Amino acid sequence: MWDFSTETDFQAKLDWMERFVREECEPLDLLFPHGGDPYDVNNKASRAILAPLQEQVKAQGLWACHLGPELGGPGYGQLALGLMNEIIGRSYWAPTVFGTAAPDTGNAEILAMYGTDEQKQRYLQPLLDGTIVSCFSMTEPQAGSDPKEFICSARRDGDSWVIDGEKWFSSNARYASFFIVMAVTDPNAAPYERMSMIVVPAETPGIEIIRNVSVLGERDDLDEGIHGYVRYHQVRVPFDAMLGGPGEGFKVAQSRLGGGRVHHAMRTVGVCRRAFDMMNERALSRTTQGETLAKKQSVQQVIADSWIQLEQFRLLVLQTAWKIDHLPHGAARTDIAMCKVQMSRVMHDIIQRTLHMHGSLGTTLETPLAHWWASVPQLALADGPTEVHQMTVAKQVLRGYKPAEGLFPSEHVPTRLSAAREKHSAALQEFGL
Ligand SMILES: Cc1cc2nc3c(=O)[nH]c(=O)nc-3n(C[C@H](O)[C@H](O)[C@H](O)COP(=O)(O)OP(=O)(O)OC[C@H]3O[C@@H](n4cnc5c(N)ncnc54)[C@H](O)[C@@H]3O)c2cc1C
Repeated sequence: MWDFSTETDFQAKLDWMERFVREECEPLDLLFPHGGDPYDVNNKASRAILAPLQEQVKAQGLWACHLGPELGGPGYGQLALGLMNEIIGRSYWAPTVFGTAAPDTGNAEILAMYGTDEQKQRYLQPLLDGTIVSCFSMTEPQAGSDPKEFICSARRDGDSWVIDGEKWFSSNARYASFFIVMAVTDPNAAPYERMSMIVVPAETPGIEIIRNVSVLGERDDLDEGIHGYVRYHQVRVPFDAMLGGPGEGFKVAQSRLGGGRVHHAMRTVGVCRRAFDMMNERALSRTTQGETLAKKQSVQQVIADSWIQLEQFRLLVLQTAWKIDHLPHGAARTDIAMCKVQMSRVMHDIIQRTLHMHGSLGTTLETPLAHWWASVPQLALADGPTEVHQMTVAKQVLRGYKPAEGLFPSEHVPTRLSAAREKHSAALQEFGL
C-alpha cells in the first residue's frame, strides 16, 4: 500500500519541532553565523545556549534520530527522519541541536559498525553525547572524485601504523578531537583493496593543519575557514587504531556516504522550503505598477515552477527514505545518487529565483539568500561531484536494458509493422488488407 499520510502522534512531534526550530534554533544562526560555529565546542557562549536546547530535544525523544535504539537513538527509520530533517534543514544550527550534524553522524555510524569496544568507548560515546566533534579525512589535494588516485600512506612499523601524506578539505579539522584518515596500506593490492581507515586522536604528534581553507562567502583574513588542508608527518598510531580490516577502507567509506547524502538531501528540502516561503511572502508584499508581484503572470510561473520542482524533489527523497527502510541493504543506491544529483539543482533554481524576486535586497547579506546561494556549488561537490553520481544512476539504469537485436531500434515502425502484418496475416488476407 502507498500511503502519504503522517500518524497523528508523529505529526505532533513534527509540529513541536517546527516551532522549536523557528523559535530556538534560528536565533543561533543569527548570533553565531560562521561555518564552524556549531562545531566549536570551546565557544562558551554558544555552548551555554546550546546545552539546554539539546536537553529539550532529548526530553522529546528526538535526539540523534538517525540512530537505532542500540546506539541510543529512537530508531524512527529514514522516512520519519526525512520529515524531521526537512524541518531541521531550515536552520544551520539545528543539526547540532538535534544531534544529527555531519560529518559526525557518518563517523559515528562507521565507529558503531566497525569500531572495537575501546574505540567505541573512547570516540563513539562522546560523539553521540555531542561533547566532541570529529573529522573525516579522505580527499587529497591532487585527487577527490576518484579515491583510487589517493597516495597518503600508512606503513606498518612494529606495533604501529605510521601515516604520511596530505589531505584536503578535512572539514572541522580545527575543532575535531579525532580524525578518521583513509590511507594506502598496500599499494600493490587490487585498486579497491589498497586503502584502510585509521582513527587518529587530534593530539597525536605530527598532525599539521597547513591552513583552514575558506569557501565562497567566508574570509581568510578573519580566519573563518573550516576545511583543513592537513599534513600528516610520520603520524604514529597503535596497530589497533584501524577501523575495519586492512584493505577495507573503501568498504568502510561506502557505508557512511550513502546515509550522509540522503540526509543532506532531506535538509535541502528544508532550506528550499524556507526560501520558497520567502518567495511567496515577497510576491504578496511588493507592489509595482499598481499591483503586487503576485499578480504578474511571470511571477506566478516562477512560483508554480518552484513548487512543482520542490514537491517532485521532496517525493524523490521520501521515496528513497522509504526504500532504505523497506528494501534490502543497498537497494536504494541509485535513488540516493538521484537525490544527490538533484539536490544542488533544485536548491540552485529555487534560491536563485527567490533572490532575484527580492531585487537588490536579495543580493545583500541582509537576508539568508546570498549565503544559501553561495553554498550551492559546495552542495554539488561535497560527497562526490554531480557527474560521478550521474554515472552511478546511468550504469544502474542501463543494467535493465539490452542492445537492439537487429539493424534498427526495437521501436522501428516498418519492422514492427511487418511483424504485426505477419502475426495477423490470415485476418488481413480474409478482409483483403
Ligand atoms: C563543503 C565541502 C565539504 C567537504 N568535506 C569533506 C570532508 O569532510 N572530508 C573529505 O575527505 N572531503 C570533503 N570534501 C571534499 C569532497 O569530497 C570533494 O570535493 C569531492 O569528492 C570532489 O573532489 P575534488 O574536489 O577533488 O574534485 P575533482 O575530483 O577534481 O573533480 C572536479 C570536477 O571534475 C569533474 N569530474 C570528476 N570526476 C568525473 C567523472 N568521473 N566524470 C566526469 N567528470 C568528472 C566534475 O565536474 C568535478 O566537479 C568536501 C567538499 C566540500 C565542497
